[in-house]
Amino acid sequence: MDENTSQNHFEGLPSEPIPEVLFSFYEDRPFKSCTRCGESLSDFPDGYKVSKNFKKGEVIIEYALCMPCVERMLNEASDESKRVLQQFQEERYREDVSGFDDCALCEKTQMTARGEEFGLTGICQGLNMFDSAMICIECMEEMSEVISDETRGKWNRFREENFPGVPGDFEPMPDKPTPVLL
Ligand SMILES: [Zn+2]
Ligand SMILES: [Zn+2]
Repeated sequence: MDENTSQNHFEGLPSEPIPEVLFSFYEDRPFKSCTRCGESLSDFPDGYKVSKNFKKGEVIIEYALCMPCVERMLNEASDESKRVLQQFQEERYREDVSGFDDCALCEKTQMTARGEEFGLTGICQGLNMFDSAMICIECMEEMSEVISDETRGKWNRFREENFPGVPGDFEPMPDKPTPVLL
């Protein structure tokens, strides 16, 4: 065994360059810093999550979170919220679906999602993407309904602080059982 084996848990996993659809719309390039803590994303060997919500082809909200910030947001959720969300995802998650064409939790596509509204998420490290998922607006709303008011309030504050004026329907999701759902 090589003593210098990297701790990078993405090593050896298949990846592709981050697709343009996950670039920062405002900066027209891959995200460089964490939306919540401002640290440089390239400094995180565990990678980061990019999320963008679209409605009829327009970007409604976009953010990138380093993994420590993802953990912190999940830790802010109540135990009950974490439990029901995990259960929800385990029941719905479609094992054979990944990528941006089909909802990871139901059979909607980008075009058949209600109001053509959906979220895209990518698990990235450096300039590569290792996993991806699409979730339609109805599944996002259903997830929002199962979490507690307290948890929803905390996550809404994140949205209000970072994206003033952006209307609801944004929730970060636990990364179990699939690390890509946020
Ligand atoms: Zn961060
Ligand atoms: Zn769905």
